[in-house]
Amino acid sequence: MSKIIVVGGGIIGLMSAYMLTKKGYQVTVIDKGDISDSASFGNAGLVSPFDELPLSRPGIIAGTLKLMLKGKSPLMIDSLSTKIIKWLYLFAKNANPQRVKRTLALFEKYGEITMQHYIEMAKEFEFDFHHSGVAMAYTNEESFEKETVLCKNNPHREVWNYEKTKDMIPCVNEKVVGSIFLNRNAHLDPELLMKNLVKLLKEKGVEFILNTEIINLEYKDNKAVKAYSKNEEFEADNFIISTGSNVSLSRKTGLDMMLTPAKGYSMTFKMDKDLKPKTAVLFIDQFLGFIPRKESVRITSKLELGNYDYNYKMERFESILNTLRPYIVDFEMKEIRYWTGFRPLTPNDIPLFGRDEKYNNIIHANGMGWLGITFAPAIGDIVCDLIDKNLENKKSDDVLLFSGFYQGC
Ligand SMILES: Cc1cc2nc3c(=O)[nH]c(=O)nc-3n(C[C@H](O)[C@H](O)[C@H](O)COP(=O)(O)OP(=O)(O)OC[C@H]3O[C@@H](n4cnc5c(N)ncnc54)[C@H](O)[C@@H]3O)c2cc1C
Repeated sequence: MSKIIVVGGGIIGLMSAYMLTKKGYQVTVIDKGDISDSASFGNAGLVSPFDELPLSRPGIIAGTLKLMLKGKSPLMIDSLSTKIIKWLYLFAKNANPQRVKRTLALFEKYGEITMQHYIEMAKEFEFDFHHSGVAMAYTNEESFEKETVLCKNNPHREVWNYEKTKDMIPCVNEKVVGSIFLNRNAHLDPELLMKNLVKLLKEKGVEFILNTEIINLEYKDNKAVKAYSKNEEFEADNFIISTGSNVSLSRKTGLDMMLTPAKGYSMTFKMDKDLKPKTAVLFIDQFLGFIPRKESVRITSKLELGNYDYNYKMERFESILNTLRPYIVDFEMKEIRYWTGFRPLTPNDIPLFGRDEKYNNIIHANGMGWLGITFAPAIGDIVCDLIDKNLENKKSDDVLLFSGFYQGC
């Protein structure tokens, strides 16, 4: 059976390895770090394919500009390179009703697949998975009223008034007008998912080569034959490139990956049990996630373009808390862990995956943006199918439907 190298051990690489191992393939995961701190660890852990609008949607530009002028926008653009300008142009172009309709249908289809995988995986190993819905808390009466209308005769959306919201999210105050509860979505602990997935893959015989950055591939005819780092080279029959927001390796094959790193922040801390949310929460008007975990909670927010620095300034975390404070009661945040990382964001929320057109034993698996945890099992499944069934892109309905290589901007 053929040997497979996965370059990049984030959630996409690991889910691809997981699906391939199930079919009996010999898999090696190579990562430039030690698989302990990528975007796949510090995110909110929402599995939210259903009933949420994509980032690129009508009204987003005007709404964000308004917030920017008030200094309250979660979106920040630190530097405007030509790449970012092109990305923003495509983002604006895709924020139209037709694209949103198509994207929502795709999220629904691949959401079903992903959710079934997580339900099965939760029987195999622990990652604090709760298929128990997500509440979208509103602080703006007008936007809440608008959403409420969309809930009529929709069994997947429940309207919660302030009292019900307060009962489920005890730390909110009366400035929260109510919530819309999306009952099909889920949440999990991404750190546990990653750690226990690595452990399981090791038990199943997957080899991990850490602290090794793959800097290029060697090609013969229309195939890649070796991946090499500064000091070593690695041979394989198939190569999966799942390097998250760092797409330099994919670009070396000649592919123009239209994605940009979008920096986000999280704070994980302990809080009074009585005030801890009983459900995962999205403060919609503040673009902020508030997620309960076994022993702690996690707040995530911000989307910064053109900022590639892993370091952070404490004022960014302060600004996240300042956005939230008017809507919550006072509570102590204990043992805070600060984190920052990058979403690999495409301009139309559609991932970029499939076989390389030039070197057909290379599979790119990237561009999961704000939904990498959500769709990782579905993408892993499709990547595995490409190898296992020896499919060309044009013979894979999933690549044709859900990949930005074909559903491009
Ligand atoms: C604040 C925040 C909140 C989020 N919340 C959610 C959420 O609630 N739900 C959701 O679904 N998604 C969420 N996301 C998005 C999600 O975290 C990402 O989409 C996902 O983690 C991307 O996974 P990945 O495997 O593509 O990349 P990564 O996790 O970044 O992994 C890529 C790996 O590749 C390695 N690598 C890179 N280059 C090389 C190289 N040349 N050689 C070897 N190794 C290399 C890196 O070291 C890294 O380990 C959030 C993201 C952020 C930042």
